[in-house]
Amino acid sequence: MKKTEIELFGLIGYPVKHSLSPAIHNSAFKKFNISGDYSLYEKKPEELESFFKGLDDSDIYGLNVTVPYKEKVLKFVELEKEDVYLKIIQSVNTIVRIDSKWLGFNTDIPGFEISLKENFNPANKKTAMIGAGGAARSVAYVLAKSGVQEICIFDIDKIRSKSIVSMVKELFPNMKISAVDSIEALNIKEKDLLVNATPVGLNKEDPCLVKKGMLHKDLFVYDLIYNPIETKLLFLAKEVGAQVSNGLGMLLYQGALSFVLFTGTDISIKEIVDEMRIGLNEGIKKVCMKR
Ligand code: NDP
Repeated sequence: MKKTEIELFGLIGYPVKHSLSPAIHNSAFKKFNISGDYSLYEKKPEELESFFKGLDDSDIYGLNVTVPYKEKVLKFVELEKEDVYLKIIQSVNTIVRIDSKWLGFNTDIPGFEISLKENFNPANKKTAMIGAGGAARSVAYVLAKSGVQEICIFDIDKIRSKSIVSMVKELFPNMKISAVDSIEALNIKEKDLLVNATPVGLNKEDPCLVKKGMLHKDLFVYDLIYNPIETKLLFLAKEVGAQVSNGLGMLLYQGALSFVLFTGTDISIKEIVDEMRIGLNEGIKKVCMKR
């Protein structure tokens, strides 16, 4: 039974305190006059099981899921038939209560795909990725699904990059994909697209993982990081004349697509994204004022 009139939504992860998701979702709830409230649920791994067990009796109707739970959440939700590939990707970032069932979805995948394709057509292109964590699994899936010519991936943890190779091979047996041992071995000079899917660049003191000489003017560089707006990698890429994108588009599209799943609204994704962008800018200002 509902305890309040307002349906609750939120983000579960650990840690999540610095997330801007409440800013983007609450701005959309307000603008579109939908009764909902989005907050943060920071849960330690040992609290996860009991949190999920209590969900049915709560006023929570939908959650976004972030590190380190995108894979763990799979055991608490059902998947639609057409979404069973998410078990192979091991990543669910949105869960929604529908008819007393909890269903799992992944909006990072279409979020990245729409954002990338606004500026770059990946079909038949040679691609390189740095980082093989949770977000990279969605990125690699999008690249393979889009029919890239090859994917070359580097992560300091080779087990993770090999796991992405196996995942892609399982879903797209003919895809040319390899895990390499260093940034140099990515051979970025020969590639059309470089994606940074590591957190390196989030902090001012972070090094730039690539050297300027590795880049070239015909490259498209997509950095999943959105705060700062311009990482050292994107700065260097622009200096050599490459086209670039930060992760803002992915953040906003995945958020808008989750918002549609949460609310069932038929408001267009574009309108939701436009409103979420305003919420994000307000959220960033607040974060900067606190620092
Ligand atoms: P994870 O921690 O799951 O994965 C990051 C991976 O990068 C890890 O395997 C990590 O290895 C590896 N890594 C770290 N440093 C290096 C390095 N120097 N060289 C090579 N590999 C390295 O993070 P996520 O996949 O969840 O997120 C990655 C980034 O994407 C973050 O910055 C996140 O904010 C961003 N993101 C953006 C989204 C958007 O909407 N724009 C959505 C989701 C994520 P190790 O663990 O051993 O350090």
